Amino acid sequence: MSLIESARPLQDKLTAIRRDIHAHPELAFEEHRTAELVARQLEALGIEVHRGIGGTGVVGVVRGGRGLRAIGLRADMDALPITERNEFAHKSTVQGCMHACGHDGHTTMLLGAAEALAARRDFDGTVYLIFQPAEEGEGGAPAMIADGLFERFPMEAVFGMHNWPGMEAGSFAIHSGPVMASADRFDIRFTGVGAHAAMPHLGVDPVVAGAAFVQAAQTLVSRVLDPIDAGVVSVTQFHAGEAYNVIPDRAELCGTVRTFSAAVRDRLEQGLRQVAEGIARSHGVEVDFQFRRGYPPTINTAAEAALCAEAARAVAGPERVFTDRRPSMGAEDFAYFLQEKPGAYVWIGNGPGEGGCMLHNPHYDFNDEVMPAGVAYWCELARRLLGNAK
Ligand SMILES: [Zn+2]
Ligand SMILES: [Zn+2]
Repeated sequence: MSLIESARPLQDKLTAIRRDIHAHPELAFEEHRTAELVARQLEALGIEVHRGIGGTGVVGVVRGGRGLRAIGLRADMDALPITERNEFAHKSTVQGCMHACGHDGHTTMLLGAAEALAARRDFDGTVYLIFQPAEEGEGGAPAMIADGLFERFPMEAVFGMHNWPGMEAGSFAIHSGPVMASADRFDIRFTGVGAHAAMPHLGVDPVVAGAAFVQAAQTLVSRVLDPIDAGVVSVTQFHAGEAYNVIPDRAELCGTVRTFSAAVRDRLEQGLRQVAEGIARSHGVEVDFQFRRGYPPTINTAAEAALCAEAARAVAGPERVFTDRRPSMGAEDFAYFLQEKPGAYVWIGNGPGEGGCMLHNPHYDFNDEVMPAGVAYWCELARRLLGNAK
């Protein structure tokens, strides 16, 4: 029997759980119902459960064989502040909240893996099932780490999986090295001297300084970075003035910076500050520059990524496993786990092969058909990492 076929009997049960979670979405750090559902499902399987880690996080512990090695498998549980536009029976029952990133599916696939792992226990060691809160921007991963995740549950490596629309259902993509970008924010305020718009020489115009900044900031990626390195600088807000005939006294600009490495990230932060201060000096305005770091880049370690690819090939067949996909400039807080431990974060195709509804779209829905492949992947990965139970 193929690995996927052995997970197929769970399909109906997992579909019901997935749709129940989909219908009852909860925002970051508010996943009380979801966490309780997860904990009760694990307890019903006879799995040791730890609640309330990093807020609403849950960890399940499954042991096989007598081995002392341990790994972590992680799913995220939170939904997004989006009003769902789907009309199917399991649509969100909560106005303004929706599982538009498929975390309902990730959580359910890890529950399916819990059931299969607990039934078989054919691996030699411990699997920690990590159900984390608040992936969407709020940092549930660092909250669990700060709450002692890796001290309480010592593991040698940690693994994540995210569904990916636009990839054939049940196929896999594994990156060696960067897979998702860092996501940082900047806020800049140029303060000049307000004046009558007909008498600019009596003021100091922050709008012109702001415009110069927008242009100059675009030279950082094109002129300062090594052309082989990737980076994005996007100015996404520019607020100034309220009248046709008034030069305002301030201009406020905001934006985001994306990179795949710590060095490029440092360079762009430094470069933006330098440009903002230089523009301020040349225009005679004051500047306040704030740079706030968000999620770091998600960087898979090579050896673990190779093991993930082998497990995925065993599950989906070599022709449905891709190791040459481009990384995404989106961000992912699994990055924090990978700062602490080796491991890899892979994509599982949500289908269809091209087009279809993308993540964070009000019409998105996780594809229940991919769950057997996801469950089989987790089980195969655990067995390959820890070896067969002795
Ligand atoms: Zn998302
Ligand atoms: Zn997501």
